[in-house]
Amino acid sequence: MSDTVEKLIIIGSGPAGYTAAIYSSRALLQPLMFEGEESGGQLMITTEVENYPGFPEGVTGPELMEHFRKQAERFGTRMQRQNVSRVDLSARPFKVWVGDKLYQSKALIIATGASAKYLGLPSEKQFANKGVSACATCDGAFFRNMDVAVIGGGDTAMEEATFLTRFAKKVYIIHRRDSFRASKIMAEKALKNPKIEVLWNTVVDEIVGDKFVTGVKLTNTTTKAKSDLAVQGVFLAIGHQPNTKFLNGQLETDELGYLVTKGKSSYTSVEGVFACGDVQDHHYRQAITAAGSGCMSAIDAERWLESTGQG
Ligand code: NDP
Repeated sequence: MSDTVEKLIIIGSGPAGYTAAIYSSRALLQPLMFEGEESGGQLMITTEVENYPGFPEGVTGPELMEHFRKQAERFGTRMQRQNVSRVDLSARPFKVWVGDKLYQSKALIIATGASAKYLGLPSEKQFANKGVSACATCDGAFFRNMDVAVIGGGDTAMEEATFLTRFAKKVYIIHRRDSFRASKIMAEKALKNPKIEVLWNTVVDEIVGDKFVTGVKLTNTTTKAKSDLAVQGVFLAIGHQPNTKFLNGQLETDELGYLVTKGKSSYTSVEGVFACGDVQDHHYRQAITAAGSGCMSAIDAERWLESTGQG
C-alpha cells in the first residue's frame, strides 16, 4: 500500500470520465484516472459520430476519444489502462483497489458508463459496426433507404424503431413475446407508424452477411418455424447494464441499478463520491450529455474538496 493520498481518482473513461479529467486537471487537482482495460467507453465501438458539436465533418468514435484523452493528458491527468476491482467507501480517504494494489483518494468520480446488452451471438461481434449497432441515434443515419431490424420490446426498442423510420425504408421490430414491455404511448406510436412491422414471438438465431450484414435468421417461438429476413442493419435494444459491479452496493442506485445523483448535481449517496455519464443516466445516453455531466462532477469535486479544506 502506498501512503500517498490522491486528491481525486476518476474511475472510467469515455466522454464523462475524460471531461472530468480535463476540468479537474485544469483545476490543479492532479487527478489519477483508471481508464479501464477497454478505455474510451461505448464510443470505441461506434463508427462515425456526426452529432458531436465542433466536428462539422463528423469524427469517428475512437478518434473523438483520443482527442478527449490527449486534452486530459495535456493538463497533467495521470492515466492507467486498468480496471478497478473494488472500492471501500466506508471511510475517507476512500480506498480503491486495482488487483492487489491499493490507492487512496480524498474524492472519487465514478464514470464507468453502461454497456449495451447483447444477445450473445458470435455474429454480433463479427458484424459490429458493419450493420450491427446498439445505438440508433448514433448510427441510424447510415441506413438511409435500407431495411433494418430492431430487437427488443421495451421503450428503447420503440424509440429507436420510430427514430429509424426517418432514414430506413422499412423497420422490423423483432420481439420474443406477444406483447410489448414498452409504455403504451410509445408502443402505440411505433405500431401506428406505417414503416414499422412487428414480428411477434420471434427470436434471432443468427445475423448473417459477408462484409456487411445482409439478414437475420429467425425462429417463431410458437410455431417453431424458421425463416430468413433480409435487412442491412440490426439494432440491439434489449437494455443496458450500468457498470457498477465493483461498487458492491456501496452507493445508492435506482430500481434499474443506475447510480442516483442528487438534484441537479453529481453528488452520490456518499459525500465525496461523484458520478457522471451513463452510469447515472439511462435517459439521454449521449456523448455530449455524458461530457456535460463529467464537467459537472469535476466542478462538484473541486468545490467539495475546497469547502472541506482538502483542496
Ligand atoms: P427494458 O429492459 O425495458 O426492455 C428490454 C426489452 O428487450 C424487453 O422487451 C425484453 O423482452 C427484451 N429482451 C431482453 N433480453 C432479451 C434477449 N436476450 N433476447 C430478446 N429480447 C430480449 O430496456 P429498455 O432499454 O427498453 O428500457 C430501459 C429503461 O429505460 C426502461 O425503464 C424504459 O422505460 C426507459 N426508457 C425510457 C424512454 C423514454 O421514456 N423516452 C426511452 C428509452 C428507455 P421481454 O419484454 O420479453 O422481457
